[in-house]
Amino acid sequence: MFFKCSQFNFILFSFLFIFFFVKAQNDPEKFAKSITEQELKELLYVYASDYFDGRETGTRGQKIAVDFLRSFYQTHKIAPVMGTQNYFQPFELTLKKKIINTENVLAIIPGFEKPEEYIILSSHLDHIGNHNGKINNGADDDGSGNVALLEIAEAFQLASESGQGPKRSIVFLHLTGEEKGLLGSEYYVEHPLLPLDNAVANLNIDMIGRLDPKRKDKDPKYIYLIGSDRLSQDLHLVSDATNKKYTQLKIDYKYNEKNDPNRFYFRSDHYNFAKKNIPVIFYFNGTHADYHKPTDTADKINYYILALRTKLVFYTAWELANRKDRIRLNHQK
Ligand SMILES: [Zn+2]
Repeated sequence: MFFKCSQFNFILFSFLFIFFFVKAQNDPEKFAKSITEQELKELLYVYASDYFDGRETGTRGQKIAVDFLRSFYQTHKIAPVMGTQNYFQPFELTLKKKIINTENVLAIIPGFEKPEEYIILSSHLDHIGNHNGKINNGADDDGSGNVALLEIAEAFQLASESGQGPKRSIVFLHLTGEEKGLLGSEYYVEHPLLPLDNAVANLNIDMIGRLDPKRKDKDPKYIYLIGSDRLSQDLHLVSDATNKKYTQLKIDYKYNEKNDPNRFYFRSDHYNFAKKNIPVIFYFNGTHADYHKPTDTADKINYYILALRTKLVFYTAWELANRKDRIRLNHQK
């Protein structure tokens, strides 16, 4: 039988496609290597520097922060979300009877199989500013979350460029106004730029670079997870299995207890997504003496543990984006 060259090409391409397709689901470690202590440190020493003046919502320091985030995405050729003004979602807030102009920042790595479905990774870009000449640098709160998002974005972009991009899209959302009462995320969920029904999960990072001095066990390899089982047991199981497979952190759910007096579940941006029935995980190191003080500085960050926790979020996003079936809400079962 005559074997046409075009048929051969088709078969060859099919094999290559299957090869990359299978690899895409199995090779995150190669890309996680790009998440390094050194790069996190370099980024955070800038993001939490005095030049950013504490990043209070609407101030010059906050504008410097959003410009910094945007230029990172531009430099790494990571696209803005459609509907933004060149990565920014500008809006007005009324704070103490004054109108403030501020913005969220959004970038996206499109999925190659189900681009309409997406995982939202978030952190708050603002902090509490400069109080009487004392700058609150907010290295842990939430400089750590922002530089983690940037490093995760770089890792997914490397995967994408080498033909192993995620099946579903990954959205990087840096939120303003968190310290004023979760206002950037509140605005975002009321004015979403992508349909909220297609949001698979929100992984929100707020403070992951320090250790909780209250822990008797001084092993730094821990993290508090909050919210993971509340809306989707699937999310909880994926998160737990991912950690066991790749990062082996000790996951502490004590702040996830329904009657926890700290009420952390309600105190960062993921809560606005949970209110819209989007499954969330809040990644958190606990509070410390430098919380909301000028002493929350970049030199106090444990970069070893920041890198490991960042990798946990990266691997979890990878699993959620590449698994065959979208995770289900509990009531869908
Ligand atoms: Zn915070």
